[in-house]
Amino acid sequence: MVGKGWPTFTPDGRFIIGESRRVKGFVMAGGCNAHGISGSGGIGKLLLESLLDPKPSPYVQSLSPDRFTEKPWSWETARAQAARVYETYYGV
Ligand SMILES: Cc1cc2nc3c(=O)[nH]c(=O)nc-3n(C[C@H](O)[C@H](O)[C@H](O)COP(=O)(O)OP(=O)(O)OC[C@H]3O[C@@H](n4cnc5c(N)ncnc54)[C@H](O)[C@@H]3O)c2cc1C
Repeated sequence: MVGKGWPTFTPDGRFIIGESRRVKGFVMAGGCNAHGISGSGGIGKLLLESLLDPKPSPYVQSLSPDRFTEKPWSWETARAQAARVYETYYGV
């Protein structure tokens, strides 16, 4: 089954945007943390910047998928942190 529209959560609560340095041609625009619809225009803009701008802004660079692969991390910790983002998302 192919799911559509599921909210996805990242351990740091931030989008994942850009091409992986480890897997050439693998481009991500996800990790929307439940606001993928409202954020879609910005995500598209930042994705283009990450792919076409020879010097993407520090902000765009900080959203790279490489932030999860360039340091050791445990799946369980990442999962717990992502769950925490979800648990507090609707908090007031
Ligand atoms: C009930 C509900 C309410 C929501 N309300 C809001 C809201 O009010 N505001 C808001 O901003 N966000 C909301 N969201 C979250 C929002 O829907 C997601 O953040 C957004 O859809 C994520 O976009 P995406 O492009 O990452 O993934 P998706 O929208 O899931 O797109 C992924 C696409 O990839 C396709 N696909 C999957 N596997 C393959 C494959 N192997 N080959 C080819 N294609 C594939 C799928 O068919 C799908 O079209 C809501 C979500 C839900 C479930």
